[in-house]
Amino acid sequence: MKKPDSNVMEKIISLCKRRGFIFPGSEIYGGLANSWDYGPLGVELKNNIKQLWWKRFVHQRDDMAGIDAALIMNPKVWEASGHLKEFSDPLVECKKCKRRFRADHIEGNSCPDCGGELGQPRQFNLMLKTFLGPAEEKANEVYFRPETAQAMFVDFKNVLETNRKKLPFGIAQVGKAFRNEVTPGNFIFRMREFEQMEIEYFIKEENWQEAFEHWKKEMWGWMTESLGLDKKNIHEFEVPDGERAHYSKRTIDFEYEYPFGRKELYGLAYRADFDLKNHFKEAPYQDIEAGEILYPHVIEPSFGVDRSVLALLCDAYHEESERVVLKLKPALAPYKVAVFPLLKNKPELVAKAREVYDEVKKEFTAAWDDRGNIGKRYYAQDEIGTPYCVTFDFDSIKKHDVTVRDRDTAKQERVKIKELKNFLNEKLS
Ligand code: ATP
Repeated sequence: MKKPDSNVMEKIISLCKRRGFIFPGSEIYGGLANSWDYGPLGVELKNNIKQLWWKRFVHQRDDMAGIDAALIMNPKVWEASGHLKEFSDPLVECKKCKRRFRADHIEGNSCPDCGGELGQPRQFNLMLKTFLGPAEEKANEVYFRPETAQAMFVDFKNVLETNRKKLPFGIAQVGKAFRNEVTPGNFIFRMREFEQMEIEYFIKEENWQEAFEHWKKEMWGWMTESLGLDKKNIHEFEVPDGERAHYSKRTIDFEYEYPFGRKELYGLAYRADFDLKNHFKEAPYQDIEAGEILYPHVIEPSFGVDRSVLALLCDAYHEESERVVLKLKPALAPYKVAVFPLLKNKPELVAKAREVYDEVKKEFTAAWDDRGNIGKRYYAQDEIGTPYCVTFDFDSIKKHDVTVRDRDTAKQERVKIKELKNFLNEKLS
């Protein structure tokens, strides 16, 4: 296991703030416990992840359908799913400094902060409550969803009937989830408001092991091919009996080596027929050929969006002798290209460079920069992971070409302006 390195984490958090990836939420009012806002670059990175995920798991498969359900659902959903009763963490309070911790995160019997004696653990429900309608009374109590999953079960029949799907098939959703976490912390690793990308994959019971293996492979493919994470930083953890969520018969956690230690990135769970049985009085699926009516079983690959962002930032962050580089895969980089005029105070150069920029941005997310010198602009683009920088100089006017500089190798080459889009397309694909 890699040694935790809080120094690297601080540098990543500072880069995120400085360059506009992620800011503390409500900062001018002193912040709000562990809420974070994605800035102009962060939202691009996050959107790229979500779009890539949707493309891979929904658009490129015939056995998947997407939904986008309401965040607040009828409270009966949470009663049926077991969340009202079971979705809790054990909380302990230090008798001396009064700080609270998750009992299952503490080794030993004393406060990790002041060494004081800890009280008895008590269960603390993680659901975030609010009221629907003007009266703050019990009958109007509702909850923000603690996971996106339940909507896929509740909408199961609607999707089935409108989409003519047959087992095995999946329903996918990307959206916000809310948990009143006892101890948030570690930047965007544990938040009270976060995003998930989840799949509920419906199967016949006898096929669960095969489907579980399929999704395990798919999750590895997503992490290493789509996100480009280094395999060495990812570990599978088979969650033992007694530690799994109340609905799960088998769970694998994919853990990532964050600078603050090895912790969960994603989860893969076999939920059996627990959910559909809870929500539907009668079996909701009919297999006409086999003449069966049944409750499908469920495999659930669950991906945190924010933890994807965090793992990507940690994986991509590189310090080289004179620069910091975010080696993001081009498909994920907030900007694919940056365009510069060599000098800011030469109107002819600036106007021509603008023409190149206007063309490029029709096809690629592009940045314009004319501040400072070229070296500083390269440095800034390296730090935000822009794969290519294009400079328009005096030779460009005569020769109709530009300098293209590669982020990872820092090598430069001349490319004809009329070839530029093809060149970039080839490099970025
Ligand atoms: P943990 O053990 O870290 O509390 P969990 O096992 O409760 O996580 P799941 O219920 O399996 O998490 O949620 C699925 C995924 O959602 C997680 O793998 C993670 O990527 C993400 N996730 C869960 N809780 C949070 C949170 N508080 N902040 C950010 N992402 C989260």
